[in-house]
Amino acid sequence: MDPPPQVSIQGKKLEMQKQDADATVYMNFMKSHHCYDAIPTSCKLVIFDTKLQVKKAFFALVANGVRAAPLWDSKLQSFVGMLTITDFINILHCYYKSPMVQMYELENHKIETWREIYLKYSNHFLISLPPDASLYDAIYSLLRYKIHRLPVIDPESGNVLHILTHKRILKFLHLFGNKLPKPSFVQRQIQELGIGTFKNIATVPQTASLYDALSIFVERRVSALPVVDEQGRVVALYSRFDVINIAAQKLYNNLDMTMEDAIRSRKCYIEGVIKCYHDDSLETIINRIVEAEVHRLVLVDRADVVKGIVSLSDLLQAMVLTPAEIGIGLE
Ligand code: ADP
Ligand code: ADP
Ligand code: AMP
Repeated sequence: MDPPPQVSIQGKKLEMQKQDADATVYMNFMKSHHCYDAIPTSCKLVIFDTKLQVKKAFFALVANGVRAAPLWDSKLQSFVGMLTITDFINILHCYYKSPMVQMYELENHKIETWREIYLKYSNHFLISLPPDASLYDAIYSLLRYKIHRLPVIDPESGNVLHILTHKRILKFLHLFGNKLPKPSFVQRQIQELGIGTFKNIATVPQTASLYDALSIFVERRVSALPVVDEQGRVVALYSRFDVINIAAQKLYNNLDMTMEDAIRSRKCYIEGVIKCYHDDSLETIINRIVEAEVHRLVLVDRADVVKGIVSLSDLLQAMVLTPAEIGIGLE
């Protein structure tokens, strides 16, 4: 027998309230925690003066095992930007000619010289947040400005306290959000939820040159490239981070090497490719990406052919910004 009408309306109302609560659980968590909550008790921070030579700066990133550094302008007495591996890629891509021609600019440019040239085409200001800003604000800044490094600066002392990343924020949610009620949508399949990029995936053939890969990084502005064989099957993952090996091993005069060689010459990397499938649940994906400590999973079919990318940006957009009705347009 059908329930009386008022009971089914009540039931529907409760169901809708549950769906609303489900959708906003991660957004509310991020809104109610501050950047300082996600800062580790101890970590290494390296800062560069803009008068430092670019080449020395990249060697210093390698020597200190860090991925990025805030830039200090001693004339302005303030932080003016960041130096990241993307900047190294842009410099190599801009000045490399052939193994026979030395890159004068890499040898001689100071960071400030490079910035004068480069800033004509990109951000002029440092994107940062105070420690009492919410993690929601941090996610918004990372996604809105399409950056991967967000310095947290103490407004009183002017000191950089930490550099927040998508990885750190999702790990924080994973560690401290385990008491949150689990929303039902985490059991749904990733492709059904539409989280990730499924069209026009930037890949690089294993036979292409490293310079070709750098060109794709520069032109497509993607953070990593699945390396594929002739059948489009993924055989490795080459991320912008991996390009730091070129500085570490002083290989920047031979960007004509093949991707196979570039992959083989990496010193610090992850064995194999961390992948996912269209029918994996969101929960499986979150667990896998957090455990592997990578920035993205490569979505493949059962034959290992690349079908998509599920990046931390996609996850944070879907879990935190979309419920706030903010769509950044990540592509
Ligand atoms: P990577 O993924 O290599 O660490 P990013 O995506 O963070 O690099 O950086 C892309 C570009 O944006 C680089 O030129 C970098 O210097 C710049 N950038 C990164 N973070 C910031 C920031 N917080 N403020 C201003 N510019 C930034
Ligand atoms: P970052 O910490 O700068 O965001 P990434 O996560 O992009 O760095 O890369 C860190 C290391 O992990 C790199 O050596 C990269 O090749 C590797 N890596 C990243 N994603 C994957 C993946 N899905 N499969 C295999 N290795 C990966
Ligand atoms: P990321 O820079 O990895 O944080 O990702 C920003 C956006 O680019 C996300 O929507 C990703 O899915 C997408 N993306 C990342 N790598 C690739 C790639 N190789 N090809 C196409 N899209 C990508």
